[in-house]
Amino acid sequence: MREHNPDIQGVLDNDLCIACGACVSACPYDFIEHNFHEYRGSNEVRFIETADCSGCPAPCTRVCPSIDINFAEINLQNRGTPERDGWIKQTYIGYSPEFQSDGKSSSGGILRALSHYALSTGTPVLTLMKSNDDTIEYRPKLVRTESDLKQMPGSVYHSTSFIGAIEILRESENACAIVGIPCQLAGIHNYITYIEPELSNKIKLTFGIVCGWMYSYHAHESFMSHKKLEIRPTDISYRGDDKVGLLKLSTGSGVLKFDRRNFGSKAEKLDYQSAYSTDSNRLRCRLCEDHTNLLADVIAGDAWLARTQGQKVSIIGVRSDKGQKVVDEMASKGLLLLEAGSIDDFVESQSENLIYGITAQKMKRWFGQRGIRTPAYHFADKGPEIETSAVDGFSFYLETLRRHVLRTGKYRTFWWLYLMKRLWIFTSRVPRLALAKLKRSLAR
Ligand SMILES: Cc1cc2nc3c(=O)[nH]c(=O)nc-3n(C[C@H](O)[C@H](O)[C@H](O)COP(=O)(O)OP(=O)(O)OC[C@H]3O[C@@H](n4cnc5c(N)ncnc54)[C@H](O)[C@@H]3O)c2cc1C
Repeated sequence: MREHNPDIQGVLDNDLCIACGACVSACPYDFIEHNFHEYRGSNEVRFIETADCSGCPAPCTRVCPSIDINFAEINLQNRGTPERDGWIKQTYIGYSPEFQSDGKSSSGGILRALSHYALSTGTPVLTLMKSNDDTIEYRPKLVRTESDLKQMPGSVYHSTSFIGAIEILRESENACAIVGIPCQLAGIHNYITYIEPELSNKIKLTFGIVCGWMYSYHAHESFMSHKKLEIRPTDISYRGDDKVGLLKLSTGSGVLKFDRRNFGSKAEKLDYQSAYSTDSNRLRCRLCEDHTNLLADVIAGDAWLARTQGQKVSIIGVRSDKGQKVVDEMASKGLLLLEAGSIDDFVESQSENLIYGITAQKMKRWFGQRGIRTPAYHFADKGPEIETSAVDGFSFYLETLRRHVLRTGKYRTFWWLYLMKRLWIFTSRVPRLALAKLKRSLAR
């Protein structure tokens, strides 16, 4: 009987593959290929039918960032072992005067500005690009010209595939700058460290996206089903215009806009919220502890701070000397307008949960107790051990149930489950807060 590598198969069976492409490049027999999984509504890999992995030393297992990431080993600049906050040297709040308001950039246009700057210095940029105009698919591409750079997307929040990025690096004559989300950079770094170290010469800079999670295709499918829209979107933007939270579905005949703050009725708002809740994202993302992209030289996220409310600005972190050099040069030329920030700004902007991966740690413990595979992250200091309560367990159970209902296309049931969750959170939080208040006043 043919055997598939059980580790990679385990990643696939547990919705942990993010299609970074590391295993595809590592497989000596070309047994692994790209796949769009209908049930999970996402890009991942699969074994070809004739694959038989018996006897193979399994380089695929070594490189998969959904199995194991050792940040101290795979950072290509030998930055040492990361602390809980990573290697953040400097933090800024700022924007690019050229790209902030170009209608595509999600926040300050920082990544786009960094990419343009890299190209202006002769460094090609490896980034995601639309496969063709009629689909919402994106693929990695090496951008060498200004006109190609203009096609760079804003943030693509639905599942994408970075498969092929390693081959592009290998074939490139020049060292490149890579723009990517944390798991994509982790896959590339794992592959280079353990399989093809010579390729490290092909990476000049890494521009990292702060990433909370990626949606499966079920998010927009579910929303469209609620709205009874029988269209296939040719593009989706959850951001990009001047407003945060403006969902734009482009079709052959126009663009439909839905503003999450401005729905006609409560039921409509609920449609939107249930479709884009954390229950419809990738399970891998719920288990991620690297939301701030530890492996990048410069990172950018949304500056959601009390003091920047209403402004379209980014929070920026510099993790390496070469990243600092680029940011300093750009700031001195007026290409980036920056003010100093702090780690506390990152926490305020992204929440402690995302910065330190608290839900991920809890969920991993809960899954681990049930023998379910989760990615292993190695940090120097993982912070305090986080207990998983019975309430957390119940909530994770409900979450996996809701996810399954959504995947099977039972959107109306999913909608009800979402509503019940909201009501449950509300009803459990109100007595909890009241009890805490009572305890505080008794202690005084
Ligand atoms: C899936 C996802 C989740 C995110 N979650 C958060 C979050 O929780 N908190 C937060 O603060 N910020 C988050 N962001 C980041 C945020 O939306 C902006 O992308 C970031 O602040 C950069 O904005 P910008 O205006 O500088 O870049 P932009 O001008 O918008 O450029 C972004 C560039 O990143 C690249 N890119 C876009 N999407 C992808 C993708 N899926 N994979 C690889 N490369 C891509 C493209 O090259 C694009 O040109 C997320 C982004 C993505 C893609």
